Amino acid sequence: MTKSSLSVDTVLRDLRQVYPHAGCTLDWTTPLELLVAAILSAQCTDARVNVVTKFLFRKYKNPQAYIAVPQEELERDIHSCGSYRMKAKAIQTTCGILLRDFGGQVPRTMEEMLTLRGVGRKTAAVVLGTAYGVIEGIPIDTHNIRLLRRLGLTRQKTQQKIELDMMRKTPRADWLTLSHLMVAHGRAICKARDPACSKCVFGHTCPSSRLRKTSKKL
Ligand code: SF4
Repeated sequence: MTKSSLSVDTVLRDLRQVYPHAGCTLDWTTPLELLVAAILSAQCTDARVNVVTKFLFRKYKNPQAYIAVPQEELERDIHSCGSYRMKAKAIQTTCGILLRDFGGQVPRTMEEMLTLRGVGRKTAAVVLGTAYGVIEGIPIDTHNIRLLRRLGLTRQKTQQKIELDMMRKTPRADWLTLSHLMVAHGRAICKARDPACSKCVFGHTCPSSRLRKTSKKL
């Protein structure tokens, strides 16, 4: 990777213009719905999750409802999201914890969120920021890892180190937006296998651009 002339501020400014409506693409109306949708979205597209939750949220309206059914029934209801056994177990265990420790409510701190099953820092940061406006981390997914490294905004390699690095470099108010913009640009232009550098707003400034003669392997 060659040295980047891009700053976080520049990337945020330019991508905000390209994707003015970038945000969470999961459908939800309550923090519990967002939490369940976020658990289901692991290794699954948000579009698929939204198809499944359209039915799911009509059937299961609170944590009690999720744990009132046999795990096999919940597995059938979320089957098409993949990893359905693990996800059903995570949802039921999490709902049990919500009832036992949090009065049936989704908690509002990172520390508390991380006591739930199937909830890592990425999911917790999405739920806290989107449902409550509580910004306690940057949701770093595969799009974020790929784009932040290609753009030269971080040299770190692991999810955890990239998050810490970007938290230091980015104003807190922009943490969630940065993540959403990376996802939007990763889906539309900077795809994993075939980045469309000729259509990219950073085509002439990104250190990984195919348009730059000095660019190394993406
Ligand atoms: S120039 Fe290419 S590699 Fe860089 S961000 Fe744009 S699409 Fe991705």
